[in-house]
Amino acid sequence: MANKAVFGIAKSEPQAITIADTVKGGGPDEVIHIPAPGSALPAPGTELVAEIDWERRYRLMRMHTCLHLLCSVVPGAVTGGQVADRRGRLDFDVPGSSLDKEAIAQRLNALIAAGHPVGPCWITDEELAANPDLVRTMSVKPPSGTGRVRLMEIAGVDLQPCGGTHVRNTAEIGPVIVTKIESKGRQNRRVILAFAE
Ligand SMILES: [Zn+2]
Repeated sequence: MANKAVFGIAKSEPQAITIADTVKGGGPDEVIHIPAPGSALPAPGTELVAEIDWERRYRLMRMHTCLHLLCSVVPGAVTGGQVADRRGRLDFDVPGSSLDKEAIAQRLNALIAAGHPVGPCWITDEELAANPDLVRTMSVKPPSGTGRVRLMEIAGVDLQPCGGTHVRNTAEIGPVIVTKIESKGRQNRRVILAFAE
């Protein structure tokens, strides 16, 4: 089930619109909610109450945080990635068949079980510019120009700019498996994760 926005035409008869997707709008804090096809839409200007599908959101937070751990386990720049419900993937710029499914899963699960705290810290645009190695993703540059950039820190494990949603401790992620490692070009390896249970 996707997120839902709830709106009321009559107070006694609230109707819910399932939100199929969200995309970035023009402004830095603007999010456009796209209703599922066929939804009955409220009149423009109607005030809505957005409701998060918490179970789904929490799964996304767990998997997203796990991708930070994957970053620390696999050397090489990240060329792409995606978080979906119950699974996630990152693409790495690494040559040959140097990646081992079982070894990666073992290291991930050890980091998860170790219960590392996860939390944000902030640096200035200048500090980020002076430390370009903090940016692991080649395709997505962190937004600059607001004066400061949010980093997510898993102490001693991973530190990088991120605006995503995270759990507070790696233990919350729970056991994961590496479902597949795919070759996506000569230097590109796609590592796909899923929850073990
Ligand atoms: Zn993140």
